[in-house]
Amino acid sequence: MEVLKNQREFFRTQQTKQIAFRKRSLKRLQKEIESKEDAICDALYADFKKPRFETLVAESQFVLSELKLAIKNLELWARPERKSSSLANWPSSDHIYKEPYGSVLIIAPWNYPFQLVFTPLIGALAAGNTVVVKPSEATPNTSKIIQEIITGVFPKEYVAVIEGGVAVSQQLLTQDWDYIFFTGSTRVGKIVYESAAKHMTPVTLELGGKNPCIVDQTAVIDLSAKRIVWGKFLNAGQTCIAPDYILVHRKVKDKLITSIKRHIINCFGPAIETSPNYARLVNEKHYQGLKEMLVGENIIFGGETNDRDNFMAPTLIDTPKMEGKVMKGEIFGPILPIITYETIEEIANLISRYDKPLATYVFSTDRKFQDKIISDFSFGGGAINDTIIQITNKNLPFGGVGPSGIGAYHGKETFELFSHHKAIIKKANWIDPPFRYPPYTLPIRLIKKIKHLF
Ligand code: NAD
Repeated sequence: MEVLKNQREFFRTQQTKQIAFRKRSLKRLQKEIESKEDAICDALYADFKKPRFETLVAESQFVLSELKLAIKNLELWARPERKSSSLANWPSSDHIYKEPYGSVLIIAPWNYPFQLVFTPLIGALAAGNTVVVKPSEATPNTSKIIQEIITGVFPKEYVAVIEGGVAVSQQLLTQDWDYIFFTGSTRVGKIVYESAAKHMTPVTLELGGKNPCIVDQTAVIDLSAKRIVWGKFLNAGQTCIAPDYILVHRKVKDKLITSIKRHIINCFGPAIETSPNYARLVNEKHYQGLKEMLVGENIIFGGETNDRDNFMAPTLIDTPKMEGKVMKGEIFGPILPIITYETIEEIANLISRYDKPLATYVFSTDRKFQDKIISDFSFGGGAINDTIIQITNKNLPFGGVGPSGIGAYHGKETFELFSHHKAIIKKANWIDPPFRYPPYTLPIRLIKKIKHLF
């Protein structure tokens, strides 16, 4: 593939290893994104009526803050990291060198189509790699603006955008990359992992899952409902870490449902379809799939749809059919099933029906209960008494576990992820203790006694 060949050649010039070069590149990118922020909002609106506020907060400003952090800290991050040395190697100085992998491939999904291209890209460039980006074909307007931004800033041998769908993605995956960063479904994640294995290419897989949201009898119900409504219906439910279903204690179920309904109306008004604050489903295929989930279920709120622009109202389902479509896999839309529990065993039985999710949320004021959920179940990350916010702290790694993902990023972690950690010991020559060389003369019992030998 021509573009990869050219990127490899460019990488070999060693230019990307220079911190000043990387910093200049990131600054140019920052300027370009800042100047195109309106066009970015327009593109996302054209793709699925994403509210302008949501685009600013979760896409462009999110990316700009990652850029600022990387620009500010690049020297510090890229500096060889000193480690204490062992007595066995004395005298030496020991370091980890952060080395770029080389040519990176980034494949992105459509739900946060701008942010999920640029957040990994920033880390990959900060670490000194060349990059090929494959945005999602499901959001063509955003894909176009990504193309414009990147070609406006970088030569193709450094960063290139290859637009297209599954066939293009598959073609890219046949190549011998030095690193692949994929965000998308678990189903496609497996295909990416398999392709990467053929070349022994390291990967980060940012995938999905069925995220439980547990509300116990001690929760502050009205505030919990408000925060659940926000996290679930943001981006019309098309968020990988959105609560997928609610597990609520029988004692507070009615109160929670009443509050959730009220907060949906507070957020989007009584005529939700006309609200400027509510996105559409990305395309007809996804919309039809979500419509099918509603068939035969007990809808207690919402359920309205409009084929014209893939609109689906925030919809609550009481006690969903466990074998029905809605409880089969990840919902990824504005449908919120509510399941009642009474004992922790019931919670465990339900959660263990599914793979390890990307997120789990607990609404409770009982510290022991909060800690029990954190310790009993495996999941990517989560929040206590809120939803989604774990993604906003750059000091926290963001990623899944098992089928919800491999690896984690954000902030400094993204830089680390795109850097090979090269361990180097620099040995002094002025002395050479004889003990390690045969014939071995150091008594065994002495070796066992020396502390911190290794
Ligand atoms: P997807 O897996 O269908 O597509 C993602 C990317 O892979 C697209 O660029 C697409 O062109 C490509 N692709 C699709 N099929 C392919 C194939 N057979 N071979 C090679 N490439 C292929 O995902 P999506 O529908 O765009 O996004 C939704 C999914 O992404 C959800 O499951 C969601 O949970 C997940 N997601 C995860 C995160 C995260 O950070 N963990 C973030 C956003 C979305």
